[in-house]
Amino acid sequence: MKSLKENFQKAHIVIIGSGIIGKFNALELSELGFKITIIDPTQLQNSSNAALGLLMGNMYQKRRGRSWDLRKKSIELWPQWIKFLQKFNCELNIEKPLIQLTTNEEKFKKLEKFIYENNDENLRILGKDSIFINNINKAFHTKNIKGMISFKDGRINALSLLQTLDKYLKHKKVNYLRGEIIKIKKSNNQWIATTRNNENIKSDIIILCNSLKAIDLIDNLSHNIKLKPVLGQAMEIEINDKEVDLLSLPKQFNINGKNIILKSRNKLIIGSTDEYSTKPEENTFEKLTNFLDEKPNWLMKAKISKKWFGIRSRPDGEPSPIMKNLEDGLIICTGFYKNGILLAPVCSKWVANEIKNYIY
Ligand SMILES: Cc1cc2nc3c(=O)[nH]c(=O)nc-3n(C[C@H](O)[C@H](O)[C@H](O)COP(=O)(O)OP(=O)(O)OC[C@H]3O[C@@H](n4cnc5c(N)ncnc54)[C@H](O)[C@@H]3O)c2cc1C
Repeated sequence: MKSLKENFQKAHIVIIGSGIIGKFNALELSELGFKITIIDPTQLQNSSNAALGLLMGNMYQKRRGRSWDLRKKSIELWPQWIKFLQKFNCELNIEKPLIQLTTNEEKFKKLEKFIYENNDENLRILGKDSIFINNINKAFHTKNIKGMISFKDGRINALSLLQTLDKYLKHKKVNYLRGEIIKIKKSNNQWIATTRNNENIKSDIIILCNSLKAIDLIDNLSHNIKLKPVLGQAMEIEINDKEVDLLSLPKQFNINGKNIILKSRNKLIIGSTDEYSTKPEENTFEKLTNFLDEKPNWLMKAKISKKWFGIRSRPDGEPSPIMKNLEDGLIICTGFYKNGILLAPVCSKWVANEIKNYIY
């Protein structure tokens, strides 16, 4: 049996896909001393680049089960990673708090019950007399908005996070290969990943972080994993109206399921849609502003200044996400339909533990 250090230094790990899940695994595993190669044909079109970066963990209303466990662990891990990554980008931060609002009385009652039963000092009800609610009612011309505030949840700028991870990986001299993997196979106890250009990359371990395309690389008869695409659109709108004071709004909040981020005094980001397709539907503005029965004038007159989309993978027949050890030296992390940014640290921690168990 080789020593722990010897095994760690020897093992070469190939990560297929460089969205947030691939990059975070590369970060965690290179900190452990592994030799990493990360492979992706293009990072530009992945869903990570489309993400709004909201970290909705502590406000999750089910306080037991796998989904809650994953969220809870990620919330614990995030502050440590932020501190670490600030060495590479001192501006990287989680902007807190996060506000969740509803105009539905029944949903609000559920929120009240959740907060009453959990007695968590980081969660509070926002009633009619709160300053946040007052400002939101004033801006959106509403009367019946209520909700909760979470001081532990917030938002990280997803693009800035991805760029910071790139900077770290470059600093660590992690091998980045631009290419599409079309086949993987095991031969003589080694994994071989073949690119479209017929290049073979040998490794001890492969981690599939390539979202929907992961199932093309595995033997689906033995593993039976099904994924479906869910497209999400988001937009930035520009408001040319003195009627509204956007700067009075919270930095990030959610009304009736739509996430709203304050970008500047005349710009908001709104996301996202859930479209079971790979082509974006055309009525983006309509779909993203339907969170209120009656829209204020300034919102109706707003212009889209930017819009974008990303395609996520949703597991079919099992809960999201899929994190599995498929066979010796082959791990899959896919199906991050929602919350891939939030859950990246818990995913990489799980992968690191699986690899430690495999090696020893
Ligand atoms: C509009 C929108 C808003 C969102 N907002 C949030 C949010 O606020 N908070 C949050 O936590 N989550 C959010 N999400 C969800 C989040 O973006 C996803 O959960 C996350 O990005 C999934 O990351 P991933 O690394 O699994 O996949 P991806 O980012 O899609 O990366 C997969 C990568 O695999 C590569 N690849 C594919 N096939 C191959 C191959 N054969 N060989 C090599 N590489 C390959 C692709 O090029 C791609 O770069 C949002 C998503 C969208 C679309």
